[in-house]
Amino acid sequence: MLDLSRREFVVSTALAAALGLDGRLFVSPAWAQKTADPATGFITYTVGAAEVTSLYDGIWEKPHDPAFIANASVDDVKAAMVKAGLPAEFVSIPFTVTVVKHGGKTILCDSGTGGQVQPTAGKMMTNMKAAGIDPAKIDTILISHCHPDHIFGLMEKETNKPVFPDAEIVISDVEYKFWTDPAVIDRLPEARKGLARRIQAVFPTWKNIRQVEGEAEVAPGIRFVSAPGHTPGHRAFHLASGAKELMISNDTAYVPALVVANPGWHGVYDQDAVTAEASRRKLLDRVIADKAMICGYHFPFPCAGTIEKDGDAYALTLMKA
Ligand SMILES: [Zn+2]
Repeated sequence: MLDLSRREFVVSTALAAALGLDGRLFVSPAWAQKTADPATGFITYTVGAAEVTSLYDGIWEKPHDPAFIANASVDDVKAAMVKAGLPAEFVSIPFTVTVVKHGGKTILCDSGTGGQVQPTAGKMMTNMKAAGIDPAKIDTILISHCHPDHIFGLMEKETNKPVFPDAEIVISDVEYKFWTDPAVIDRLPEARKGLARRIQAVFPTWKNIRQVEGEAEVAPGIRFVSAPGHTPGHRAFHLASGAKELMISNDTAYVPALVVANPGWHGVYDQDAVTAEASRRKLLDRVIADKAMICGYHFPFPCAGTIEKDGDAYALTLMKA
């Protein structure tokens, strides 16, 4: 069901710049989402004593682009999408946010798009309330990295006002320092300069951000896992409760149809693709060795499942919605 007013199609160039995105990524008025949203936009499961909820935020149906994967053609990408049971005509990039209730705390893993990245995304808050989670009761927000689809849910669209002023926001010190370094703006590609400017205008003014070194425990039973490459300080989050484990992999294997099935593919969103591939293989091998569950921010809903080795590649099996 689509209920989009025309107003939502009009994105100012100023907003596009603030988002760090090329304005051409935004859709024409003829655009309409082709993928059905899940019938219920949340699903709850357990990992030991932890209650874990996947919250659907929306989907980006990314147009094909020969530059998307450096070492694969558009035809290769289309074939990979079809092999995963997805449409060939675009790259399906859903956004799904994970909430963990464990040890008396409610922990949000990244913050959704805040309705500021793709026209139909921004459903996290509605689905959070439908799942019975009060946004005001979130204790901790773990940030995997500073790309727009992971952090814009922290800040209001026009004013940058904090959406979760009472939560503690936890981020890798490497990631925080990278994006808040004034010198980074000159070094970034044009499409990312606006993003860095917005971060630099907002994050240093907030008192509730805690930078964490290495792979510290950041919430009850949850540790950061260093997984650099996608960005310099990209982190996965490892949840352990009793004998059960969940690897919240974030963007380590962002679109599994592409890079779980072809871990050696080098995507344009991986800032350092060689390092990202090494992090991806290491993380997926660990998940298999530990017999852990895995979820990922861009995995198809319901987002969580298990991984197996498949020759030199990997295969993801999602849990049933
Ligand atoms: Zn992402």
